[in-house]
Amino acid sequence: MVQQFAQQTDDVHARSEPTSPRATAGGPPAENGGNGAGRRESTRRLPSHIELFGFASTPARLEVVQRSRLERRVRAVLALLGCWALIPVVGIIPPHIEWAATAFIGGIFLARRYWRAEFVAVSFEGACPRCASPLAMKPGTLVSVPHTITCYECHSEPWLELGDVPRKTVRSAAQPSGPTGAAPVSRRPIP
Ligand SMILES: [Zn+2]
Repeated sequence: MVQQFAQQTDDVHARSEPTSPRATAGGPPAENGGNGAGRRESTRRLPSHIELFGFASTPARLEVVQRSRLERRVRAVLALLGCWALIPVVGIIPPHIEWAATAFIGGIFLARRYWRAEFVAVSFEGACPRCASPLAMKPGTLVSVPHTITCYECHSEPWLELGDVPRKTVRSAAQPSGPTGAAPVSRRPIP
């Protein structure tokens, strides 16, 4: 039920997207229409990077479709109502309480996820800060920042953050410090 609704809202979203057919010589603008074109136009690239404690952040390339506040709210409410409507149905099956509780908690979980996710991923490229393996994110993934991405190589869980890679202060090894520094001390010539 939830998936059906998701598809419907996707179609509505794509249809309501304003398509601005480029004026090509002699080409009928109707051919440029369609769901794919509408989705591509609303796609935008966000500056992003991958973070993990103890490791230098790595740059990422993220293309998303922004979800409207209305869409997030409607999907969250429908997910909640859909799961809660299943409670009397699955409650018939033994063990009754466990199924009912699962549907109840599942509704809250899904509603929270649909409400929080501001973006839908279109494409993603990024590398694990720890092992530099490429990280994967399927198109259509709901993204709420910070978004955890599991690295299946080193089993760490870095997360996606918006914005460029933060500049960290790099300690310069060229600057001697302390009494052990072997740097020559320049003395003023005594007149
Ligand atoms: Zn890794």
